[in-house]
Amino acid sequence: MELEELPGVGETTAGKLMDAGFREIAAIATARPADLKDAAGIGEIAASRIINAAKESLDIRFLTGKELQEKRALVGRITTGSSVLDTLLGGGIETQAITELFGEFGSGKTQIAHQLSVNVQLPKDQGGLGKKVIYIDTENTFRPERIVQMAEGRGVDPDEILENIRIAKASNSDDQMLWAEKASDICQEGDVGLLVVDSLTSQFRADYTGRGSLAERQQKLNRHMHALQKIGFVNNIAVVVTNQVMSRPDVFFGDPTVAIGGHVVGHAATFRIYLRKSKGGKRVGRLIDSPNLPEGEAIFKVTTEGVMD
Ligand code: ADP
Ligand code: MG
Repeated sequence: MELEELPGVGETTAGKLMDAGFREIAAIATARPADLKDAAGIGEIAASRIINAAKESLDIRFLTGKELQEKRALVGRITTGSSVLDTLLGGGIETQAITELFGEFGSGKTQIAHQLSVNVQLPKDQGGLGKKVIYIDTENTFRPERIVQMAEGRGVDPDEILENIRIAKASNSDDQMLWAEKASDICQEGDVGLLVVDSLTSQFRADYTGRGSLAERQQKLNRHMHALQKIGFVNNIAVVVTNQVMSRPDVFFGDPTVAIGGHVVGHAATFRIYLRKSKGGKRVGRLIDSPNLPEGEAIFKVTTEGVMD
């Protein structure tokens, strides 16, 4: 929703509010009438009305435990193609959650994202949700021909599978955030089961280089993560994001690789899977920080037909 859509807010008032830093409905909803009055040069009563309308449009209220239980009962799961990896995840990639795939270049993040884009379209008894895909591709690594191979591996019509994947190319971090907003609109239609952001962090890294811009980057990334969380929860969609790793120079014992984005990404992701290459073309997925599952590892393969045990 845009500021202009609030009753009593025209283009001029919206402009003044934006200039004063009230860029989102949530900012208006939590403001005091006096703040808006000063910012937009409107009367206090008009300001109160706008604030109330903003609150209503956000539909903020507590959920009861029962309501949350009912919502949880709707959680769907998408098979990764590997039964051991599915088991590690408690039955597959969950809806109403963000799953982060992180690992080095070539560790299999994009392959799993492609596989899930096929699998989510399968019927429920085959590990899918019978739903469509939105794929935000920031690294230009989405390959229709790879989808064709994986669809054929599953014995389903590649054309139909490709038809049901909507791809957006994001060439900078602002673009990426805009695509997420657009995705939010499309997801309300109800036929999408999976939203992929591959990669979550690369454009943010490119746009905000140097120490001075780190705080700003993290702030924007935080907003992006919250937008993705909301899309997943509200529409009962699985959100899958990929992330790179970097080497921490201060870690002397154990594995020095950490995911990009720090706590902002780590805390917003419900499931985090650390992927790495192993001997003989095998891959290892390690579940990290799950709210309700034990940590553990799964060994799987990426073949021409796709992800499998
Ligand atoms: P990243 O983690 O950087 O996203 P990818 O998911 O793109 O990495 O993984 C790339 C790897 O996937 C390749 O190195 C290769 O091992 C494997 N792979 C890609 N395409 C195929 C294919 N058609 N058949 C078998 N393996 C493939
Ligand atoms: Mg990739």
